[in-house]
Amino acid sequence: MALNVAPVRDTKWLTLEVCRQFQRGTCSRSDEECKFAHPPKSCQVENGRVIACFDSLKGRCTRENCKYLHPPTHLKTQLEINGRNNLIQQKTAAAMLAQQMQFMFPGTPLQSVACKNFAQDTCSDCFLYPT
Ligand SMILES: [Zn+2]
Ligand SMILES: [Zn+2]
Repeated sequence: MALNVAPVRDTKWLTLEVCRQFQRGTCSRSDEECKFAHPPKSCQVENGRVIACFDSLKGRCTRENCKYLHPPTHLKTQLEINGRNNLIQQKTAAAMLAQQMQFMFPGTPLQSVACKNFAQDTCSDCFLYPT
């Protein structure tokens, strides 16, 4: 099995499972009630999952016909929890990497591996939440 070490933006935590019944048009619940996503037609569904709009989570999406899902409140909460867990994982990974760097290249400043914009919540590249 090949190991993928390329730095890819991790949007996995931002995805939501699409309601299968909704896809068949048979879900009787509203999107506020259903625990799965009811994406509008403009949303891209991939393998039964849809990517939530990061900007909408932050309450600042201004796109018309946004191709990402604007989740209802309960799914938003779920995503916020995912995001936080993801952040903890990323931080742990970054800390481990920093340790490794220190080990291999003593004197490497630790900050060099962490995104400093991210710490101030001004980074648009990191799909992460500030703590
Ligand atoms: Zn549903
Ligand atoms: Zn949006």
